[in-house]
Amino acid sequence: MQGDRSHPTAEAIYLRVKNQIPHISLGTIYRNLKVLAEQGLILEIPVADGPARYDFRTDNHYHFICDKCGHAHDIEMPLPTSLTQSLQRSGYAVRTQQILFYGLCPNCKS
Ligand SMILES: [Zn+2]
Ligand SMILES: [Zn+2]
Repeated sequence: MQGDRSHPTAEAIYLRVKNQIPHISLGTIYRNLKVLAEQGLILEIPVADGPARYDFRTDNHYHFICDKCGHAHDIEMPLPTSLTQSLQRSGYAVRTQQILFYGLCPNCKS
C-alpha cells in the first residue's frame, strides 16, 4: 500500500485487504485508517460529495479531485506559508492543512 498513488477510498482498501485477510470487516478497515490518520501515518482527504480518500504519502501536498473521472491528483506546488503564518499571528495553532481543488483534470478537459 506504501507508494500507492491512487488515493483509494476505505472501500477500495477493504476489497484489496480482503484478498489477503478474507474475514476482515469494513468496520475494522475504517477503524484502522482512522488510527493511522490520527497518528499522521496516512493522510485522510475529506471529499465534499463522496467518501474520504486515503493517501499513503504524508508530506504536504495538494489534491485536485476530478469531477468526471473522480481521480485524486497530487498537486506539487510550494505551500502558501503566508496563509499559515497569518493564522498563527491571529492566535491559531495550525496542526495541519489541506487544500482541495475540484474541477476537470487535463485528461477529462480535452
Ligand atoms: Zn478526470
Ligand atoms: Zn496525495
